[in-house]
Amino acid sequence: MMAIFGEQVLTPDGWAENVRIVVDAGRIASVEPNSTAGAGDERHAIIVPGMANVHSHAFQRAMAGLTEMPGPGSDNFWSWRDLMYRFALSFSPDQIEAVASQLYVEMLEAGFTRVGEFHYLHHDKNGGHYADIAEHSARIAAAAHATGIGLTLLPVFYAHSQFGGQAPGEGQRRFINDIDSFGRLLEGARKAVQTLNQSKVGIAPHSLRAATIEEIRELQRLDFDGPIHIHIAEQVKEVEDSIAFSGQRPVEYLLANSDADSRWCFIHATHMTDAETIGMAKRGVVAGLCPITEANLGDGFFQAPLFLEHGGAISVGSDSNVQIGVSDELRQLEYSQRPLHRARNVIATHGRSTGRTLFDEAATGGAKALSHESGITAGKPADFVSLKPVFDAGYKADQVLDNWIFGEGMSVDGVWVHGRKLVSEGRHPARERIGERFGGVMKALLSQH
Ligand SMILES: [Zn+2]
Repeated sequence: MMAIFGEQVLTPDGWAENVRIVVDAGRIASVEPNSTAGAGDERHAIIVPGMANVHSHAFQRAMAGLTEMPGPGSDNFWSWRDLMYRFALSFSPDQIEAVASQLYVEMLEAGFTRVGEFHYLHHDKNGGHYADIAEHSARIAAAAHATGIGLTLLPVFYAHSQFGGQAPGEGQRRFINDIDSFGRLLEGARKAVQTLNQSKVGIAPHSLRAATIEEIRELQRLDFDGPIHIHIAEQVKEVEDSIAFSGQRPVEYLLANSDADSRWCFIHATHMTDAETIGMAKRGVVAGLCPITEANLGDGFFQAPLFLEHGGAISVGSDSNVQIGVSDELRQLEYSQRPLHRARNVIATHGRSTGRTLFDEAATGGAKALSHESGITAGKPADFVSLKPVFDAGYKADQVLDNWIFGEGMSVDGVWVHGRKLVSEGRHPARERIGERFGGVMKALLSQH
């Protein structure tokens, strides 16, 4: 049993003052507003719930800043993907673990308490299976164990290169499984996370390019307790290819041909008609938005106001991991909307400020997307973050979140996952050791490219 005292704490009922949060065995035992701090309580100015990062490809952290040089033709998502494939072919299991560990330290220090790892780099450099087919899943789990971040592992099913079940390309060989080998991989992934606290294993058919609808239905019959994630409607070409294949747009097709509901998370969901946007919201499917990556790759704009107006659940993910930040993703999400609608405070609902709306919606939707629970209230996992004002300016309630997201006036101070304090004064204790190993891996990878 331990207690943490917060002068301002964001609870599901709103902001509370002078709150004692009592933690027992990784969960919140009680939340006592208007109380006084006990002698041994750790004291903080501001405490907010931990944020879920719903979409990450850990190995891509090593590519950050390496794809910003123009190529001979015009650069777009597809030319970026060619570079990413070449990069993906060079990783060893040790290197995957080192890069994921570095990434998870950065996520924790940013205030992300849980990650959805959409993991598709499964096999050896020639496309052969490792002795343990889930070798790389075990490396992701080891990185989560070493850093303490909560993990929802989403092994990816990837079988084809294009709509209609076309054969995969040579550059995709490390990703490929059939239903049988994927079943073994999933079992291995479940074993790999067994010793982690509060871990979940879901599944991720990569996209409608890489998995047919028949295969998606077969995957759903496998044994897993977590959510179902899929990349969808990220690119205009993908929408065109979908229409050429089935006569329907990707989201339209998947809503019509699957049982997609609140157990599902559609990653990106960028290019949707109004009918698709409303349909997805009404079915309860969570939108897994990756605002910084979507801006970096030139994907497009999510229809946020319409989706939220129909009760849609949103969440955020760092995807290509080019930058890691809770406030940065939320700010970019709002800033992606302002030029589009030529308006300010586009994502602000129910009388809340923009920062508060962004934070509440992404924390709640994010937990849902990772089959986890969120909120500073009795019975929930003790996953929370303390913020430290840069200046003692007396920001109150929603001003705190607005100032963190839009004013750079708050820094992440402490981070607790499952009741364990993993970050103190903004630093993870293993950051030097893990950072040194990451530097060595980067030198080795860059010498090959
Ligand atoms: Zn992705």
